[in-house]
Amino acid sequence: MLKLIKNLSEAYGPSGREEEVRSLIQEELKGKNLEVFTDALGNLVAVKEGRGKKIMVAAHMDEVGLMVTHVDEEGFLRFANIGGLQPASILGRCFLLPGGVKATAGVEKPEDLKDLSFKKMYLDIGARDKGEALGQVGIGSVAVFEAAFTPVGGRYSGKAMDDRIGCALLLAAMEEVRTDNEIYFVFTVQEEVGLRGARTSAYRLNPDIGLAVDVTRSGDTPEAPRMAVSLGKGPTVKVKDNSIIAHPRVKERMMAVAEGEGIPYQPEVLERGGTDAGAIHITREGIPSGVMSIPCRYIHTAAEMVDAGDVEYGRRFLTALLEDSWS
Ligand SMILES: [Zn+2]
Repeated sequence: MLKLIKNLSEAYGPSGREEEVRSLIQEELKGKNLEVFTDALGNLVAVKEGRGKKIMVAAHMDEVGLMVTHVDEEGFLRFANIGGLQPASILGRCFLLPGGVKATAGVEKPEDLKDLSFKKMYLDIGARDKGEALGQVGIGSVAVFEAAFTPVGGRYSGKAMDDRIGCALLLAAMEEVRTDNEIYFVFTVQEEVGLRGARTSAYRLNPDIGLAVDVTRSGDTPEAPRMAVSLGKGPTVKVKDNSIIAHPRVKERMMAVAEGEGIPYQPEVLERGGTDAGAIHITREGIPSGVMSIPCRYIHTAAEMVDAGDVEYGRRFLTALLEDSWS
């Protein structure tokens, strides 16, 4: 699973350009004897047939990035953010653009560091002028962090743990699950820009229950905003975020399953942010939905950090959730 997480994490896949991640997952799906299809927006769906509950489980393939809006005469790229990035997180970082083009993020003046904003920043691809730059990138090209996946102590650090960890967990659970439930494993597009792929795929699949697997923030770093979630204390069962109040029946069932399996879990109240379940639960007449999250530090940076034990418990928890009778 480690190799899989590494490959997924290092792949290029900003919102709307998830092709590389999707083909990696398609490779993994080969020989699994599941019906697999890609829909009009690019969501990848693998179906395990059954006569029990219809469960849609979603993890998003996309990651945050910077879209080129303008190239100046000297060949520096200006950009807009795709998803929730902070200016301080990108300064001095390396970026990857389509075609293997590399970039570094710089800032105009040293004074600008005090009041950093994307307007005062640029991407430097080493071009000598506008013509040379435009020979390598176009307006609308998207840069993503370039960062190697690295184990750090008992933890994993890399870009796009959000949400390639979720993608890896879906693939792992798919291997193990033994159930008569009908399960739709959905690898969604465009979560970071408004849960867009989850919306259309939930409409098409119309499941009995929706589950999202994603990362969440933690409150366990120095002076962190208060949050009762820590790395290493197990996956979370979402209670609320800005996109959803988890359905009480789904949330309680999730907690009961974790307790029954002896899996540690943390109830999660996330004050900012949302996830695919936010779109799934308001599809059609409403779909009872919940979320399992993996606690993550430094979300939307080049070094997102998750705990190896949480990932392992997450794998067991997700498998048990998909095998549950939900009655
Ligand atoms: Zn996410």
